[in-house]
Amino acid sequence: MQATTQLIHSIPVDPLTGAISVPIYQTSTFVQEAPGVNKGYDYARTGNPTRATLENLIAQLEGGHTGVAFGSGLAAIDAVLKLLQSGDEIIAVDDIYGGAFRLFEQVYRKFGINTHYVDTTNLEHVFNAITPKTKLIWIETPTNPTLKITDIEAIAKLAKAHRCLLAVDSTFASPALFKPLSLGADLVIHSGTKYLGGHSDLIAGLVVTKEKELGDRIKFLQNASGAILSPFDSWLLIRGIETLHLRVRQHGASARAIAAFLENHPAVGKVFYPGLPTHPGHDIAARQSKGFGGIVSFTLKEDTEEAAKTFVTSTGLFKLAESLGGIKSLVSHPATMTHKTIPTEKRRRAGVADSLIRLSTGLEDTEDLLEDLRQALDKLDKVETSRPVGRVSTPEVHEAHPVGKVLAAR
Ligand SMILES: *Cc1c(COP(=O)(O)O)cnc(C)c1O
Repeated sequence: MQATTQLIHSIPVDPLTGAISVPIYQTSTFVQEAPGVNKGYDYARTGNPTRATLENLIAQLEGGHTGVAFGSGLAAIDAVLKLLQSGDEIIAVDDIYGGAFRLFEQVYRKFGINTHYVDTTNLEHVFNAITPKTKLIWIETPTNPTLKITDIEAIAKLAKAHRCLLAVDSTFASPALFKPLSLGADLVIHSGTKYLGGHSDLIAGLVVTKEKELGDRIKFLQNASGAILSPFDSWLLIRGIETLHLRVRQHGASARAIAAFLENHPAVGKVFYPGLPTHPGHDIAARQSKGFGGIVSFTLKEDTEEAAKTFVTSTGLFKLAESLGGIKSLVSHPATMTHKTIPTEKRRRAGVADSLIRLSTGLEDTEDLLEDLRQALDKLDKVETSRPVGRVSTPEVHEAHPVGKVLAAR
């Protein structure tokens, strides 16, 4: 049976009523016949049937043993970090998601858990960073926002040889593209907020473990710390996941067309999309993935924050917002939005240029999306040519721009 068919029919029809949609069990507690005698549930932080359906669904989808649902992607990441002890070290991908960087640096470092950031596309860099204290390797692939591709299988071998856990934040790919656990990872993490939810209407996080023992530890932490996903959001996320494969296929088709269009546009600098044969990770992505995803990033020929801001305020269908993976296309400027907490030099070194723009391709018609990008790039051209030769934009000009002010205040 194909994955799509299996997914759609893996959610059981409600045995009590025949309801074809999963019931939302909006309850805090469950009545017991005698102390400790219950129907599998006692208190809804510990377990809830709607959430359990979601947790089983994601475990099955990722080919893991245990799925655990959290109130956000960051709560899911937080639970994984709590597997560690003071004195342990983490090796993480250098252009890690900004919120994860903040959690690693501003929360866990003070508890004596230190993270080393390396370019995980280079196995030698990872190997050289491993010490006897390394207990966790943390990768994202493709990365946010430069879409670097890490060879999961190769890193998994390194992790095994050094007895450390490999965690893959697979938010950008989703299980529709590949399953990190089948490539040797121990844990896979998702921000369910993105492709899994798919409609920009919820915040959620998921952890799936390959083995039962690790799953039990994450479940313990879910209950002990309490950052659970609500029954309603669990239901919404199930509903999103049901159409995952269909959506990811269309996101990918549009992203491919957009990447090709941008690569040939004179106002565009560099295009980052793993589906382009010119992308350095193309071969690995083609091997480990069923597709190349819906995110396309690019820089402008005029590599300035001002030019990027002109572009991101000129698109119509692409809405200026953080996040990705929803039905509506989004545009963002990582340097001043998602990656603003990363120090400037560190950010540039990781390839996040001042003019870098990230697109999350939605489910609109591909031609309409291309037209929107075309007209926004044209506007950029006009701003540039109308500018007197030799003049650079001043901070006053930038601050006078209404959107510039909004961005500056974030
Ligand atoms: C959004 C995101 C997160 C955080 O998820 P939230 O649901 O916003 O807490 C983590 N990792 C990646 C790659 C993300 O894109």
